[in-house]
Amino acid sequence: MARKPLIAGNWKMHGSRAHTASFADAVAAQPLPDGIDALICPPFVHLADLVARLAGTGVQVGGQNVCDKGGPGAYTGEVSAGMLADCGATHAIVGHSERRALYGEDDDVVSEKFALARDAGLVPVLCVGETLAEREADQTENVLRRQLGTVLGDHGVAAFADVVLAYEPVWAIGTGHTATPAQAQAVHAFLRAQIAAEDATIASALRIVYGGSVKPDNAADLLACEDVDGGLVGGASLEADSFLALCRAN
Ligand code: PEP
Repeated sequence: MARKPLIAGNWKMHGSRAHTASFADAVAAQPLPDGIDALICPPFVHLADLVARLAGTGVQVGGQNVCDKGGPGAYTGEVSAGMLADCGATHAIVGHSERRALYGEDDDVVSEKFALARDAGLVPVLCVGETLAEREADQTENVLRRQLGTVLGDHGVAAFADVVLAYEPVWAIGTGHTATPAQAQAVHAFLRAQIAAEDATIASALRIVYGGSVKPDNAADLLACEDVDGGLVGGASLEADSFLALCRAN
């Protein structure tokens, strides 16, 4: 089935008000190519501003994380999925490997965040991926089966009807070591098969995007793979020209 590719930018803890304004001005000046969805996930403090500035461009805005409590409540420093939706976010990244590794988010926490994002009307961008040690120990499929399986087991396959799954090998994120198209395709096909084992229709509609050192010069080869339905992009999404080049790479 034809799936519309998604190019999603993850700004991580980068940016400023001036950067947000100049990025949005540059995007507004160049129409998005047809046949692609585009999303930027800025730091929370810039989210509402970016929503306002990108209105009418077709580029959607998402959060990089959501609180693992629904709230509202006494959770100092946290931002709920509902708050993101209220500010105009359409998506939220959950389970990014930096959250898993640096902030101790385990599969159960990620699964809870996935549910809270959906409950708030956001599309979760659920990240899974193995470390280099796990790949070298031939554990890639076991790790992915566990990460995906927790969410699937908790919420059922129907919860994957309007979701983005992101395969992000940890060894490729921010390292310049992009997975080869063959490596990405093999894992994406494996992930789709996990969903297809429960529901073939949902599996064939599910967008599975690749993340890990995607750049304008390697995006086309990755996007050409049958089961690669776009990219989740860190560094190369920060500048508008580079982000737009990725959107044109399809
Ligand atoms: C990411 O932030 O999810 C990511 C894939 O980063 P980069 O594109 O910089 O490797």
